[in-house]
Amino acid sequence: MRLLTITNWAYGATVALTVMSCVTMLQASSAQESERKAVEQRYRLDKATGQLGTELYALTDHARQYLNTGDPTYNAIYRHDLENLRSVEERISHVDDAGASANELDILKDAVRWADTMQAEQTLAIDAFEEGNEAQARQILFGAEYERQLDQVQARIVRFQDLVDRRTEQTVQAAAEAARLWKALSEIVLTITAILFLCVLYFIFKRRVLRPVLKLSDVVGRLAKQDYAAELPDIDQIDEIGDMAKAIRIFRENGLERQRLEAERDADLETRSRLSSMTQRMHSSDTLDDLQDVVKRFVPTIVPDHAGVLYLLDEKRNAVVAACDWLDPHYSVREFPPSACWALRRGLPHSPANGSVDVPCHHLQLEGADVPNTLCLPLTAQRETMGLLYLEARSDESEGIAVSEVYLNMLAENIAVAVANLRLRDALREMAMVDALTGLANRRSLDEVLEAQFARSLQNDESLSCLMIDIDHFKRFNDTYGHEAGDLVLQEVGGVLKGSTREPQLAFRYGGEEFLMLLPGLGAELAIQRVGEIRAKVGALHVTYAGTELGPISVSVGIATAPEHCHRNELVEAADAALYRAKRNGRDRAEVAQRRQERIAAVSTS
Ligand code: GH3
Ligand code: MG
Ligand code: MG
Repeated sequence: MRLLTITNWAYGATVALTVMSCVTMLQASSAQESERKAVEQRYRLDKATGQLGTELYALTDHARQYLNTGDPTYNAIYRHDLENLRSVEERISHVDDAGASANELDILKDAVRWADTMQAEQTLAIDAFEEGNEAQARQILFGAEYERQLDQVQARIVRFQDLVDRRTEQTVQAAAEAARLWKALSEIVLTITAILFLCVLYFIFKRRVLRPVLKLSDVVGRLAKQDYAAELPDIDQIDEIGDMAKAIRIFRENGLERQRLEAERDADLETRSRLSSMTQRMHSSDTLDDLQDVVKRFVPTIVPDHAGVLYLLDEKRNAVVAACDWLDPHYSVREFPPSACWALRRGLPHSPANGSVDVPCHHLQLEGADVPNTLCLPLTAQRETMGLLYLEARSDESEGIAVSEVYLNMLAENIAVAVANLRLRDALREMAMVDALTGLANRRSLDEVLEAQFARSLQNDESLSCLMIDIDHFKRFNDTYGHEAGDLVLQEVGGVLKGSTREPQLAFRYGGEEFLMLLPGLGAELAIQRVGEIRAKVGALHVTYAGTELGPISVSVGIATAPEHCHRNELVEAADAALYRAKRNGRDRAEVAQRRQERIAAVSTS
């Protein structure tokens, strides 16, 4: 029942009970009033009838004393009192107005009649005394008859008073009974009113209003501080408080939903910011190692609860090879053919157990029939597959990946683009540093390599030899067999140089038909020996172009070794000078650089 209804009922009942209580109190008071009136009436009647007897006795006394003394004063007093008796009788004649019953009135009238008779006899006796007939007068007033009449009056008065007393007593008793009854009734009504009031106070105000309101006010206080974890008390009453609890519950649910959305938005922002930072770092990476460091650092923060592996495609071996991993993945093998992954086959993300039924990839090592929660994201850039981003749940309890699919795709795309950029950069770099015709490093890369080799030889305190090699009369091949034949010769000589060292990256095409070789750790002696081998190999070449053998190929070589012949910085210069001497001395030979003193001497003699 609603509080308003209960309150209205309680209010109505209280008003009705209060009215009843007033009525009963009025009734009790009216009973007391009738009791008072009955007593008052008895007093009046007693007084009136009592006076009748007293006055009659007084008149008798005065009349008798007048007879005994003959003193006219008594006669005067008698006359005076006679008036009193008349007024008493006058009052008694109205006794029926004062509520006397018919029986009582009869007795009283009888008494008055007797009194009148006696008064007549007194008058008669006084008249006889005044006429000198004292004996007659005495007989009348002192006679037995007169005494009997006096007793008769007295007996009637007593009888009347007795009747009045009894009737009054009954009336008083009845009135007292009624007053007691009404009083008891009034007390009962008052008690009921008090109980009703207490019930309303306890059951309605305390239990249904105060207690739930106190509980709700605590919750409302916490909700006002945006503490939506505050649990609502279990209030299911159907009334205004219930409505209030329902409204607060809705307010709390809205708050929780808003908090959830805000948390989602914050997480979203956080993910976006991390993705953006990660992308920036990846684009600033110079090497694959740098890129792997970035991936290992950022991906676990973007996709927490999931371990992972970054695989890169090795096209030459047609294999997908693990480049780096994080958070200790279990299921995926380190290397596998691209066909072992459904994501790479289809070019789409593949997740065999994340709320859907699908075939697990072959690169997963599974024990039993349980399929782990994994996700393979192909890394594709410019329609080319770069590799694979593999993720797996770290525990069975963890649900699907919390990050939205959009961000996962963005993550894979960014990594793919970064890998593609690095590969493109490497390819461009290689193109810039490698001679396309011979496959040897070109002159552009020489400065960089030279610097490193200088530092290395200095650090290890070892020799560094440099060979400057020039094909003799090369122009002839071009002129005789054409430019392509000349190219072929260049390729063949380049091949010899590449095969003559354990470090093929240290053989350079220096320009046109000139080559340069660096031999770290080799002193002049060993360098001369190596040159001998090279010249022998070149001399043994049989290059055929368009079915024609191009004829013997020879090279002139300048050899310089630092620090034996010159300072490291002068190495190329010294080797070039030695080559120049070899050419001048007739070609198809090797010349060793002169030491500084020898050079000075040679200059002074020439
Ligand atoms: P020398 O014995 O004095 O070294 O005589 P040479 O003919 O070898 O040297 P020269 O400097 O007179 O001629 C070099 C020629 O090499 C000139 C140029 O046309 C040719 N040449 C330079 N680069 C290439 C190339 O990439 N391919 C071909 N086919 N020829 C080239
Ligand atoms: Mg030349
Ligand atoms: Mg030449």
